Amino acid sequence: HTSPKPSPSPSPLRFSKFFQSNMRILVTGGAGFIGSHLVDKLMENEKNEVIVADNYFTGSKDNLKKWIGHPRFELIRHDVTEPLLVEVDQIYHLACPASPIFYKYNPVKTIKTNVIGTLNMLGLAKRVGARILLTSTSEVYGDPLVHPQDESYWGNVNPIGVRSCYDEGKRVAETLMFDYHRQHGIEIRVARIFNTYGPRMNIDDGRVVSNFIAQAIRDEPLTVQAPGTQTRSFCYVSDMVDGLIRLMDGDHTGPINIGNPGEFTMLELAENVKELINPNVKIASVENTPDDPRQRKPDISKAKELLGWEPKVKLRDGLPLMEDDFRSRLEKPKKH
Ligand code: NAD
Ligand code: UDP
Ligand code: UDP
Repeated sequence: HTSPKPSPSPSPLRFSKFFQSNMRILVTGGAGFIGSHLVDKLMENEKNEVIVADNYFTGSKDNLKKWIGHPRFELIRHDVTEPLLVEVDQIYHLACPASPIFYKYNPVKTIKTNVIGTLNMLGLAKRVGARILLTSTSEVYGDPLVHPQDESYWGNVNPIGVRSCYDEGKRVAETLMFDYHRQHGIEIRVARIFNTYGPRMNIDDGRVVSNFIAQAIRDEPLTVQAPGTQTRSFCYVSDMVDGLIRLMDGDHTGPINIGNPGEFTMLELAENVKELINPNVKIASVENTPDDPRQRKPDISKAKELLGWEPKVKLRDGLPLMEDDFRSRLEKPKKH
């Protein structure tokens, strides 16, 4: 015996696509760093209605305070590992802690979020006929053996390490996306996001840019984890959001790398933060964590060619844009 499933929604939303009228968009993880900037951008379009579903594990209502009460905006406290019933045209599925401190805090929960959470959002997309975009990660490439990484590279990932809940979790999430696409004809988009930075990053969440900016403002030494020659490529959040929207609204499933190919060692990053934010701060070398990838830089040829997208904000221009936000949250106003 099987209970009858809800039939595909006959909602007027299906017609809205033809008449280019309102678009109802679900953003999971919309109270987080990237999610809240995405919501700001989507809300700029008066034809968009935005629903955010978030359990506030690493996000906060504060990030969305300017939209609370807006007639085109709705905020739901919801954990994506539970089923969700809403009627939408598009789903941006971001819900997942992104910084190592938080995703390692409860690794089993991180896997459930990636696997069951993505399954639920795909079930939702299937029921209502919505297009769904997954924010996957450059971590699917693991500690890469090819450089820079393009989308055809299958990665070098430790399946049993302390990061596996996150990177293997995202790999399964990508697999689920493509299986729902092949098996059920769901319209999918997969973005592989590289390190992103900007205002509203969690302070003290252990990520390198937020750490260095907070340390520079507090006059504490910038903690460069040894050896300091490991590299990352940092994308400013407004560029990231533009890339995600282009991917969603374009014709390509992906996976597509979205990131800034400008590559820096952690020592160079520290020197830039020192110069731009606090020239008196010290730079200290500290111990690293296990499985830290040695280098990472996106090959963004596909994004350029298929989405007409490339990042505009250089690291040296983006870092100072975080200072006011961090100073006000740290209650450390600038001395004149
Ligand atoms: P974030 O931690 O600021 O945001 C994640 C949001 O998801 C938070 O608001 C959190 O409360 C919510 N969330 C977590 N688990 C949930 C659950 N089970 N149910 C509902 N909500 C849940 O992180 P971010 O930097 O904004 O990252 C957003 C997405 O982008 C994530 O999927 C992340 O894996 C991906 N990503 C980010 C980066 C980066 O550099 N920031 C890089 C690669 C991929
Ligand atoms: N699901 C959901 N919202 C919906 C439809 C489905 O959260 O609107 C969940 C559902 O609970 C299930 C998952 O998505 O756990 C996968 O749904 P699907 O219909 O693909 O699979 P099935 O229900 O047959 O396992
Ligand atoms: N890192 C660092 N100092 C810090 C935090 C991180 O030097 O205070 C280094 C870390 O060893 C890694 C890089 O910065 O090589 C990026 O780390 P992050 O956690 O920000 O991102 P991810 O490893 O997920 O790319």
